[in-house]
Amino acid sequence: MGAVRVLLVEDDDAVAASLDAPLAAAGFTIDRAENGEIALQRVKGGSYDIILLDLGLPDMDGYDVCRVIRSESTTPIIVVTARSDEFDRVLGLELGADDYMVKPLGSRELIARIRAVLRRSAVTSAESGSSDHLIIGPLNIDLRTYRVQLNDEPLALTPKEFELLAYLAADAGAVRTRTDIIEHVWDANWFGPTKTVDAHVAGLRKKLGDHGWIESVRGVGFRLAAPGDRTP
Ligand code: CA
Repeated sequence: MGAVRVLLVEDDDAVAASLDAPLAAAGFTIDRAENGEIALQRVKGGSYDIILLDLGLPDMDGYDVCRVIRSESTTPIIVVTARSDEFDRVLGLELGADDYMVKPLGSRELIARIRAVLRRSAVTSAESGSSDHLIIGPLNIDLRTYRVQLNDEPLALTPKEFELLAYLAADAGAVRTRTDIIEHVWDANWFGPTKTVDAHVAGLRKKLGDHGWIESVRGVGFRLAAPGDRTP
């Protein structure tokens, strides 16, 4: 797994500063949003593994921020509140928060909670992946409807591009040889040039917008993994 990307939604500079070093030491990268509006922009523009959401924000009700994020994204959310008696746990969880914490935030407990939430969400993704969806980081392939989303945005693929992507994604991280790809995506009796595979890979890379998704393994074939999520 690459660095865990955390969006820290927190208006209090001192609280944010106190979390920087311990979260970085735990291998997390942190983007900060100082208010609700910036938080929603960041969520739209970036892909985060987890969101820490302070409920007491200067411009918006934290519960509303939580509701809007959840309507657009499945990124796990841990809500943070200043006082336990102010916090409506049921409402927080109903709005789609995955966990909650009360300030002051101990960095050790926070890191443990983040890891626990990420583990749970990985299990959920794997379970949904076993049915109709292949989910690799921000990439979501629906095998039933032939739809693909990247960062919650639809990707328009040709049928062959879709089949190639689905074939690579079915065993993400594994190398698929050109011969395997031709047999599965075209058909076993296909005698055309293997250049066709390269052309489709090039098309897919362009649409995925990041060449890191599909790695060429010299002399062997290709493998797919989320950029930055590759084990050498
Ligand atoms: Ca606050």
